Amino acid sequence: MAKKEEDEMAKERQRVWDSLPKGRVYQAPTELDRLFEGVKYDIGPKWYGERIRKGEYALEVGGPKFNYTSTWFIEIVHDPDRIQDGRIELIGPDIPEIPDGTSLPFMFWIRYYGENLEDDFLDILTRWTYMAVEGGEGWMLLNTRDTIWLRLRKTAKHKHDFFHLGQAMIANTKIMFPYVEKGDAKIIVGNEYRDLIKEITQNVCIPYWERIDARAREFSDEDVDTFYGCAVCQTFAPNHVCVVAPDRPPYCGIITWIGAKVMYELDPYGYTFIMPKGECLDPIGGEYTGVNEVVYQKSNRSYKRVVMYSSLLYPQTNCGCFEAGIFYIPEVDGLGMVDRRYTGMTPIGVTFSKLAGFMSGGMQNHGYCGMSFRTPRSRKFMVGDGGWYRIVWMPKEYKQMLAEFIPEEIYDKIATEDDAIDPKDLKEFLKKVEHPVTKLWRNGEEAEPLKIPPPNGEWDPEEEKRAKEKARVLLEMQGKLPKSE
Ligand code: SF4
Repeated sequence: MAKKEEDEMAKERQRVWDSLPKGRVYQAPTELDRLFEGVKYDIGPKWYGERIRKGEYALEVGGPKFNYTSTWFIEIVHDPDRIQDGRIELIGPDIPEIPDGTSLPFMFWIRYYGENLEDDFLDILTRWTYMAVEGGEGWMLLNTRDTIWLRLRKTAKHKHDFFHLGQAMIANTKIMFPYVEKGDAKIIVGNEYRDLIKEITQNVCIPYWERIDARAREFSDEDVDTFYGCAVCQTFAPNHVCVVAPDRPPYCGIITWIGAKVMYELDPYGYTFIMPKGECLDPIGGEYTGVNEVVYQKSNRSYKRVVMYSSLLYPQTNCGCFEAGIFYIPEVDGLGMVDRRYTGMTPIGVTFSKLAGFMSGGMQNHGYCGMSFRTPRSRKFMVGDGGWYRIVWMPKEYKQMLAEFIPEEIYDKIATEDDAIDPKDLKEFLKKVEHPVTKLWRNGEEAEPLKIPPPNGEWDPEEEKRAKEKARVLLEMQGKLPKSE
């Protein structure tokens, strides 16, 4: 994107920021030794992965009650005069004023300035800003960006208010990432702001994220010598390791390969580590000796293999942060995809939340894989299973959201909840539209499902060959595999 266009976008963000309704203002201390002054709650890895159930929360913001239409927006501002360091403005009620059990839509808009801050640092700023909540005593955090969902435990309510939460986000980021010189925040909470939040998300946040994500997509796995690993989520999924590659963004949607690289370079002894690629064992599925070795070590010697672009064969383990999931449907030998916003039933007879409960915890669940919203945008998306031609079912809204990334010729052949949910109906639908996956069926009539091993199990070598052959058939149809392969 041209510099002029970026400047125009920055001006527009500032205009929207200035035009927000006026709220109550709190000035947090900005001296280094007073950054956390007044913050009453504890922040640290021991609070990661908190799950707070219905009846246990004092406050819920974002999440399914609002169809995941709340937003946590972090922006890098390049003009120091635009930011009043430590200024936190709350538009809406504060936590102590809200009755227990309330659910509200919200937006956190956090801005940072630093002379050396570059747009490539957005991931790392996001990581450390989120930590004030993800690792914050009493908070549950799920998802990211415009699918965010937070709950505050009743028993911790007395330690919290939004002003100090904003202060803690900025303070934590300044401490963890000293390039940050200034930070300010606006926190918008309340039903009356729901449309405003939607509008800002559409017109301000999404274009900003698209620009940053497009830069991350400029690299592909072949362009780099090393991938990165992340083990932040081991605090609640003990053996989980994410492989972060240009074509394989991790589940949480927070970190890209560029972000992981920056994190590693700034803190080589932190949660992010290098994964030299080593020898490529499978260029289609994405299996590398170097990745396997590091995953084995970092997963407490639990998993020996990871096939990066597959959800069937040795997929990455799932921690629990994923924004969407992919699952095998044996009756049609295809893959379904479902995101958190969809609350209905899937063709495997479970809702997203049941599926997520089953997949989480750091196991290697062959046939199931977590995803961030960025994952299906990758050029290597599930190529180890046949790519988009293996996808047979998605919720309607999720499909619309990903429309520009789904190959045109397959778009109408992917069923939604309006076409079929029961696997029998799904099978009929796929036959009727001549979905490519039917080419894997016996005489185009009967699926011959794979024998998927149990969680943490190993594939029978013959069955693994069969799985790879099926992927090859579909890739060949897409012209993604030379006929001689
Ligand atoms: S999902 Fe993966 S990349 Fe994201 S924080 Fe957890 S371990 Fe790190």
